[in-house]
Amino acid sequence: MDMFNLTGKTAVVTGANTGIGRGIALALAEAGANIAAVGRSPATETVEKAKALGSDAEIISADLSSTEPVQRIIDETKERFGSIDILVNNAGTIRRNDAVYFSEDDWDVVMDTNLKSLFFLSQAAGREMIAAHESDGRIGKIINIASMLTFQGGIRVSSYTASKSGVGGLTKLLANEWAAKGVCVNAIAPGYIATNNTAALQADEDRNRQIMERIPAGRWGDPSDVGGAAIFLASDASNYVQGHILAVDGGWLAR
Ligand code: NAP
Repeated sequence: MDMFNLTGKTAVVTGANTGIGRGIALALAEAGANIAAVGRSPATETVEKAKALGSDAEIISADLSSTEPVQRIIDETKERFGSIDILVNNAGTIRRNDAVYFSEDDWDVVMDTNLKSLFFLSQAAGREMIAAHESDGRIGKIINIASMLTFQGGIRVSSYTASKSGVGGLTKLLANEWAAKGVCVNAIAPGYIATNNTAALQADEDRNRQIMERIPAGRWGDPSDVGGAAIFLASDASNYVQGHILAVDGGWLAR
């Protein structure tokens, strides 16, 4: 199973303090990767758990609602761990309102965090990965966290749908430009996963019942359910997988 082994590789995971980001960080740590746990809130528990799994891990504080911290994240990771082999663009936010009332602020914060910062962090990491491939043939891995709303319209989440549809497009664009340069760019589209992001839906009795009835697996996903897909896309097992959006959704899209 060596192709899944991430020992000696460094993964930058954004939004690593909670939810899906923590689930992915711990899965990559278990597979052997060092973890640069990037977040607005300190990822103290994630780092402690990653270390308990035998990985080396460090918190990098950054607010990704602007591109200001992008180069610092790359520099601090390189300084601490020596390289960047894997980038997981997981940090994301959501605002809910009817389209007729949707504010410009709710548009901007979601697009800036979910799409603009994702692109510029990928650009900065991609430059490092391309250079590493040119010098010693290493393969870099970028994993974007998309959504069911990369494929569907959703409701009352205008900027979130626009951002996650954009994430799908950028995943394919970057794969097209970088596949021959030693960087694999793919995405994971989680279905309904029980996290802070979906707390309002889980708390709404009617919406919760409607969602559960439509999920073939018959349950909400847990952040740990996303870990296996992340290990696959971060590892040598996926070296010829490019521009793919892998749904981890309990069958939601198949319905
Ligand atoms: P979550 O628990 O709310 O986690 C979101 C993460 O993003 C948190 O770590 C959060 O940090 C971070 N974040 C938000 N704004 C940030 C900013 N300006 N700068 C830095 N970090 C920021 O929700 P989640 O469900 O795990 O979400 C993770 C990703 O999965 C998101 O991209 C989300 O869109 C996506 N997703 C989730 C689901 C689902 O069902 N849960 C489905 C599809 C896609 P703080 O804790 O500091 O706010």
